[in-house]
Amino acid sequence: MSHRKLEPGRLVLATHNKGKLKEIQDLLAPHGYEVISAAELDLPEPVEDGDTFEANALIKAAAAANASGLPALADDSGFCVKALNDAPGIYSARWAGPTKDFSVAMQAVEDKLLEAGATSTADRACYFVAVLCLAWPDGHAQYYRGEVHGTAIWPPKGLEGFGYDPMFQPDGFERTFGEMTLAEKQGVGASLSHRSRAFDLFKADCL
Ligand code: IMP
Repeated sequence: MSHRKLEPGRLVLATHNKGKLKEIQDLLAPHGYEVISAAELDLPEPVEDGDTFEANALIKAAAAANASGLPALADDSGFCVKALNDAPGIYSARWAGPTKDFSVAMQAVEDKLLEAGATSTADRACYFVAVLCLAWPDGHAQYYRGEVHGTAIWPPKGLEGFGYDPMFQPDGFERTFGEMTLAEKQGVGASLSHRSRAFDLFKADCL
């Protein structure tokens, strides 16, 4: 399918997360876009039953585009450990259980790494992924994937960030994402985080 630019106007963000909404509104407002959230439009949250980040991002973006008649942007992200066949991957949020306790999720990653005998830095290679999907009501969709690679360290370090940040040390750094401010995690000069990298690709391609 042909490539499209995003025409200035209204855009739905397929999230019910206020933090993500604010971040994306700030990013797009200077370019003439009015970002509305799926929550403001009372759109239902679809079941994310895809088996890739791309499939799940498309499920969310396409549902919002179809229900609103506007272009819609969605993201899906997760933490992948190479020695665990890229688990937890698309199940990253689920590994934290119903109480969303990421110390439980990080401990599960560590237990599985030990079971797999992964002790060296090379054995503990891992990465974060963020996929953005921009979908239009006519079914056209474009994808942007950002990744940041590093090492799964133990014990976790730092209280910043969220999710698996305290056990992720990006390549070229001596500190984990849990020990970085949001600005450092996003990247000084060049983008560092998977999410910032996906946004860079989206901006370069669509705006
Ligand atoms: P979602 O894309 O918002 O559904 O996020 C999926 C899950 O991936 C989150 O619940 C986190 O556990 C994990 N994750 C995604 N991005 C990050 C990050 O930047 N730091 C830590 N964990 C992350």
